[in-house]
Amino acid sequence: MQLITGTTKLLGVIGSPVEHSLSPVMHNAAICALQQRWANASLGVDYVYLALPVNAADLSVAIAGFKAIGLVGFSVTIPHKQAIVPLLSEVSAVAKDVGAVNTVWRTDEGWSGTNTDVEGFIAPLQAYNRDWSQTTVVILGHGGAARAVVVGCTQLGCTDIHVVGRNKQKLSAFEQSWVDSSLPVTLDIHLWEQLPELLSQADLIVNTTPVGMYPHVEESPVDAVAMQAIKENAIAYDLIYTPNPTQFLQQAKQQGAIAIDGLEMLVQQGVAAFKIWIGQTPPVDIMRQSLQQHLGLST
Ligand code: NAP
Repeated sequence: MQLITGTTKLLGVIGSPVEHSLSPVMHNAAICALQQRWANASLGVDYVYLALPVNAADLSVAIAGFKAIGLVGFSVTIPHKQAIVPLLSEVSAVAKDVGAVNTVWRTDEGWSGTNTDVEGFIAPLQAYNRDWSQTTVVILGHGGAARAVVVGCTQLGCTDIHVVGRNKQKLSAFEQSWVDSSLPVTLDIHLWEQLPELLSQADLIVNTTPVGMYPHVEESPVDAVAMQAIKENAIAYDLIYTPNPTQFLQQAKQQGAIAIDGLEMLVQQGVAAFKIWIGQTPPVDIMRQSLQQHLGLST
């Protein structure tokens, strides 16, 4: 049981809706495990993490209220990831590159924000010894998560990045947004029809679309024929974490590709946020297991 007393400090996640957020599950599991390890909350893990529903119209008043009650920090989810930026006194370079903030903490000056999705995305890739500068990356989709993926791939040193979408105007706007940014991103944009040809060259394929997400578990962003073009030993990375694995990852594995699911990104972006708020490395295994149990996945 997590120990909550009169000295317990508050963390949370703001969003609308936020009731189904998995962040309270993994952060409270980590806090609880650290409390048990030290058997004394006063040793520095005297926190609780709550889901805090905040409507778009109430964002600034909520942030002012958080300051008033001494909230230590919070995660930010849809629809506030961009809207929060003007309310912060400091925004990290990586959050500026992504164009969105997912983690905020209190400072003497006000609130600071960063984006830990980039770190979360990269973490499972770092287990593979690849020359990322020679890697051809194909990113499916160009929404918010794709921005973190582009920044992550650029941080890894990838220079051959291809983004695939179904709407030419949106693709062009995505491409232009990087021209206007300070990050040295070079990418090519393609319509979906070009996917089979791109897949035959790809070393890393990242699905950032919601296609295949529960309850549409039979769907895949890539049809079965196009999947045959995937190279053996290519990495197929799906940001979706339910189902686990997705249809896309199952098909990629059948082609001899390496599959990475979205659960680890979720865990690792949480790990990075936890370190910022609490200044301690959380028990990563406990965070992962808590999510697997909550989602009914085999551990
Ligand atoms: P988003 O901003 O809405 O972007 C979704 C992208 O997918 C858009 O480019 C959209 O294109 C495209 N898309 C949607 N339906 C499509 C379809 N049927 N065919 C082709 N393209 C389609 O969403 P997001 O915030 O980036 O999130 C995307 C996914 O990543 C979600 O499944 C989310 O759960 C997951 N995610 C996971 C993590 C993690 O930690 N594992 C973190 C963030 C996000 P159009 O504009 O043409 O519709």
